[in-house]
Amino acid sequence: ETITGANGCDGFPKIKVAIVGGGLVGTLSACYFAKRGHEVHLYELRPDIRELEHVPGRSINLALSVRGRAALKEVGLEEQLVQRHGIPMYARMIHELDGSTRSIPYGKKDQCIYSVGRRFLNESLLTAAEKYPNVHCHFNQKLVSANLKQGQMTFERQPSKEIEQVEAQLVVGADGAFSSVRKQMMKQPLCDFSQTYIPHGYLELCIPALSDGTHAMPKNYLHIWPRGRFMMIALPNQDASWTVTLFMPFDEFGKLDTPQRLLAFFKEHFPDAVPLIGEEKLVSDFFACKPSPLVSVKCGPYNIGDTALIIGDAAHAMVPFYGQGMNAGFEDCRLLDAVLLKHKFDVGPALKEFSTTRRPDAEAICGLAMYNYVEMRDLVNRKSFLIRKKVDSL
Ligand code: FAD
Repeated sequence: ETITGANGCDGFPKIKVAIVGGGLVGTLSACYFAKRGHEVHLYELRPDIRELEHVPGRSINLALSVRGRAALKEVGLEEQLVQRHGIPMYARMIHELDGSTRSIPYGKKDQCIYSVGRRFLNESLLTAAEKYPNVHCHFNQKLVSANLKQGQMTFERQPSKEIEQVEAQLVVGADGAFSSVRKQMMKQPLCDFSQTYIPHGYLELCIPALSDGTHAMPKNYLHIWPRGRFMMIALPNQDASWTVTLFMPFDEFGKLDTPQRLLAFFKEHFPDAVPLIGEEKLVSDFFACKPSPLVSVKCGPYNIGDTALIIGDAAHAMVPFYGQGMNAGFEDCRLLDAVLLKHKFDVGPALKEFSTTRRPDAEAICGLAMYNYVEMRDLVNRKSFLIRKKVDSL
């Protein structure tokens, strides 16, 4: 079957694509394939998050940069999702121990990154994907095994555990850092894989909006409290609250085992943040959840012939200190579309080219993210000659 009437793709082969994972990258990828006229099936482990009161999972907001914006723009979503909803952050604002602050711009005067809500972004991308009549969403479907060379997948319906067999010409694994599609790929010979956990975990806290509905700190900044072995950051939300993330070695987290120890620690290291969060809220939010681990994944190749590909965190999960995980995943969607178009949807050569060209770039961003792990918590406070020494000792 060939495509008719879709964005300069008339006469190209029409493919049945199964995207595994309806997170940020899977939903955007669905938009790209749908825009070109293909038959798209999106399989997501969770229920439809638009119908949930509370969505479990990480980081409530994310920093969206020019890389991610370019990818959203090509499917007509940049204006709606970023310009109208995002909060521009023009600089980092460093909080010193004595409560004084100073800012370090991200670029020229009008250059910025945007703070955007993860849930808002994911829900909007799902809705945008579903607007295409050729996109079919399947929620509560967990990929449990696959024969990727044959394009065959086995899903387990949640929570009934009913099994469903599905086939597609192309399987796109966008199922995150612990990707099941990748696990299936790694059964092939000559597949590289490495993962690294860093000693730091993270835990999210919140600075509530002021009673007059405004932000409690200058709004257009990414706030950082660099403290050497650990650090805290805060990104602004639309409702005037702040999502605060504490990054710290797990053994340090372990020492904060009573409200007294927690408060003493915060008063010593983040004294200006304590009244903003509120002592009671700090204690209840801190002890309500456990710190989460941070993993960096490198692997390759990203494809198996012309039948399977991994993108986003499934291909290159990174530590979050460069704020580029989602951005790089969004960029995958844009670059994959360009390479498929270049090869007139001759999938085999296109996937091979994508994997070969994308892998060194993705690994470079993973490396930069690891470098910024030191930069953000420590080096913003130090002289540059120490940088090399620090990074070499990682
Ligand atoms: P995910 O978001 O993990 O989505 C994967 C989806 O697949 C999920 O919906 C999951 O339910 C589904 N799934 C999993 N397994 C299966 C299965 N077996 N079957 C079916 N479905 C399955 N990036 C930035 O660009 N900027 C930031 O500021 C930023 N901040 C971050 C802060 C923190 C604390 C962390 C941890 C990460 C941050 N990131 C940031 C990185 C960003 O969160 C990820 O890069 C991004 O979520 C990757 O999207 P994804 O769609 O590839 O994977």
